Amino acid sequence: MSKEIIVIGGGIAGLNAGIELLQKGHKVTIIEKNDNVGGLCSYYDVNGFYIDTCIHWLMGTQKDNQIYEIWKNIDALNDEVKIIRLENFVTVNYNGANIKFGRDLEKTRLEWLAIAPEDKRNINKFFSIVKAMEKLMSYALKCKSKKSFVDLTKIIFKSPSIIKSLSLSREEYARRFKNPALRFAITNMMTGYNNMFFLFDIYSLFSQGNADFPSGGSKFMVERIKNRFLSLGGRLLLNEEVTKLEITNNKIVEIKTNKNNSLKPHTVVSSVDPQYLLNNLLDNKYQINKINKARKRINKNPISSCFNVYVTVEGDLSTINGPTLYNIDPIKIGHKELDYLLVRPYNFDPDYFIKDHKTVVSLFVDQNQHDYHYYKSLSKDDYQKITKQNIDLMIDSLIKKNPSLKGRIKYLTHFGPLELKNRTHTSFGALQSYSLTDLKSFYFAEGRVKGIKNLYCCGQWTRCIGGTPTALLTSHQIARKIK
Ligand SMILES: Cc1cc2nc3c(=O)[nH]c(=O)nc-3n(C[C@H](O)[C@H](O)[C@H](O)COP(=O)(O)OP(=O)(O)OC[C@H]3O[C@@H](n4cnc5c(N)ncnc54)[C@H](O)[C@@H]3O)c2cc1C
Repeated sequence: MSKEIIVIGGGIAGLNAGIELLQKGHKVTIIEKNDNVGGLCSYYDVNGFYIDTCIHWLMGTQKDNQIYEIWKNIDALNDEVKIIRLENFVTVNYNGANIKFGRDLEKTRLEWLAIAPEDKRNINKFFSIVKAMEKLMSYALKCKSKKSFVDLTKIIFKSPSIIKSLSLSREEYARRFKNPALRFAITNMMTGYNNMFFLFDIYSLFSQGNADFPSGGSKFMVERIKNRFLSLGGRLLLNEEVTKLEITNNKIVEIKTNKNNSLKPHTVVSSVDPQYLLNNLLDNKYQINKINKARKRINKNPISSCFNVYVTVEGDLSTINGPTLYNIDPIKIGHKELDYLLVRPYNFDPDYFIKDHKTVVSLFVDQNQHDYHYYKSLSKDDYQKITKQNIDLMIDSLIKKNPSLKGRIKYLTHFGPLELKNRTHTSFGALQSYSLTDLKSFYFAEGRVKGIKNLYCCGQWTRCIGGTPTALLTSHQIARKIK
């Protein structure tokens, strides 16, 4: 039977849920507070330059797996979309020594051995884990096995000591290496606060070609998904914010919006941050236990946010070979000092990101809930002052590492936790949900709110780690559940 379904939020999860529900014959309306869909997977146009605010890597860029199939179904990926495969996931530049996380694992292993022969045993172990992880992820992505992910992990890694090392923090694991450049590289190569499992996971996805960049990035991917939704007859209410859900007899009977709209759906799918849903739209009367627990562990499992500055660089950029993470003299960004800067020149996709010989470059540092609270505590004037200081410090750090860029850099825009929070209502201005810092911290909320029969939840917060793959998979599972 065809139902009237309202989807709250038009990010990746909301869009995917909307499309799959239309394909099942339901009538779907997506309500999105912003002037376009995409949510955190978004973009800005600044002075004629296109700024991608999301995708660094997209999971599922090989054709032979379940995630690719879901992306394809919503037209995020298709045969015409060129996938850009960089040589290195990132290069960590530590006082001039380049530690690469290359796609070719054997070449990379030999390069690491040449830099740090004293760490031979641990380097070999590191790459054998990446190779085993490739196998694990390949099984997981192709859904080849009926066994649970945890069981598969135990079967593939066999040794309890390796399994234990997967749940170490990157800093703890890095202490095994004598070479300071390797220690720094392993600690910092990846953004966010996730543990070694996540590092091996992402690096192995990259080395097998499953974490790459669809040409055109977030903007063009989201436009393709939006067009797919509209072409199937979906209804989109933009610039409209859901403000309240009225419940009678354990059912949502009315959805109110800031435009005084009142909608009476049969079923509601929420793709917004569940904490915002529970606190703001449901007046704190309901709970999702697993998410509640995760929130209580937040100091152990911080959220990932960022302070991201976008600039253009005029002319030659050959001194920066792909995404590069530099060790820098410590700069205070947010509540504490940071000693690294991730620089991402977008010259790998020149049709979109280079104009008039100027290339868009992103400067990125991690932030978390403590930084969010720090910025929130500032007065408006102080916040502006600190923001300007952050931007200057990050640009100066880039120039110190690349003196030839002096005089060629122009600031375009920036965003931090407060701007992200404002844009999507995500808790603490997170770009990804709670981090995976040990095996206990993994959670998987089933997407229901106890006590409300016609409400389903999906999106990156309903499962640990977050990111677009989680948004996609959780919405896929919810759409399958709705009859
Ligand atoms: C700088 C940056 C880099 C990133 N890099 C990557 C990457 O390389 N790879 C990757 O996989 N992921 C990356 N991410 C994370 C990724 O963008 C998110 O995990 C994903 O987009 C989350 O999707 P979602 O649909 O779950 O949530 P959201 O995108 O948060 O969608 C929720 C939607 O609900 C809307 N909304 C909220 N409240 C209301 C309301 N009351 N009424 C109506 N609408 C409402 C919001 O505006 C939003 O559109 C990055 C994010 C950022 C910011």
